[in-house]
Amino acid sequence: MITKIVSKSQSTTWQAELSQAFTNPLELLDFLALSHMPLAQQVLQRPQFSLLVPRHYAAQMQPGNPADPLLRQVLPILAEQQQVPGFSHDPVGDQKAEKTTGLLHKYHGRGLLITTGACAIHCRYCFRQYYTYSRHIFTQLPKIIENLQADTSINEIILSGGDPLLLADARLAQLISQLAHIPHLQRLRIHSRLPVVLPSRITKDLIHHLTATRLQTVMVIHANHINELDATVQQALQQLQHSGVMLLNQSVLLRGVNDNVADLKALSEKLFSSHVLPYYLHCLDRVQGAAHFEVNEIEAIQLVKQLQEQLPGYLVPKLVREVAGMPYKQPL
Ligand SMILES: *Cc1c(COP(=O)(O)O)cnc(C)c1O
Ligand code: SF4
Repeated sequence: MITKIVSKSQSTTWQAELSQAFTNPLELLDFLALSHMPLAQQVLQRPQFSLLVPRHYAAQMQPGNPADPLLRQVLPILAEQQQVPGFSHDPVGDQKAEKTTGLLHKYHGRGLLITTGACAIHCRYCFRQYYTYSRHIFTQLPKIIENLQADTSINEIILSGGDPLLLADARLAQLISQLAHIPHLQRLRIHSRLPVVLPSRITKDLIHHLTATRLQTVMVIHANHINELDATVQQALQQLQHSGVMLLNQSVLLRGVNDNVADLKALSEKLFSSHVLPYYLHCLDRVQGAAHFEVNEIEAIQLVKQLQEQLPGYLVPKLVREVAGMPYKQPL
């Protein structure tokens, strides 16, 4: 009996934690002792893309620092309301790549499932913030599976979103098992920010569901700054790695967050010590409201050159930009 109670509480801790996340910008500022700073005058109190920040993530921010690199990623500010030419609602052409509701097919061999529209954190620079999601893909699943069965060129399926790890274990297990029945699929890739922003999501049960499959499992996490990788996050990553999940990281190059060599270098080093290889450093997708995060391409290339001078090749992420209509993410 006791073991049953323990495993139930483990599987629901993360959901309870998520329900405690900050949703009010002023409360977050208060928590960080920033309510009386000039920054408070710039905050949008009710933005359309709401504020959402798990307490674990907020706890990594530095109290009293209005320029905190984690805070900047999540705090809605007036600058978002500027209309800047070239910044649109669907900068990467996702709507056009939709094969059937919930399934994107843009690149050879890889299908991407928008498993849910929900995330555990709202990143202000997110290119999918205007994407019109159906609530989740499960009513569409028979059609998606049919599509994947018919297309033998696809050997890798990417679970994306939103964040696929917000799905309940049973849902996820059912989805993975259905995918594993498609004979030409070889790899299961999970794109998730949860190991970083809500590490309590990485439970033993979850790891079991991700690894008890004939598919090879790759997880691409999303961290932008070394301060996001505390001991709890590192522990979650270590458990994933020990269970045979290959771990990669993608970052977005963001003005005021990680636009300097020292921070990028520290991030790569810390990722490696957490068993994660740097994969992509993305140039910002030009989504409306995110212009204040943009680092121009010349500066981006310079930064990566300096990284190459200081790090082993395997710790330098590939600098890429996604261009609508192109057959792969474009290296710079
Ligand atoms: C980014 C992306 C992929 C994966 O591309 P990789 O270069 O293999 O990481 C696949 N499908 C879609 C729609 C994507 O946006
Ligand atoms: S976690 Fe990913 S999908 Fe969700 S808001 Fe952040 S960048 Fe966008």
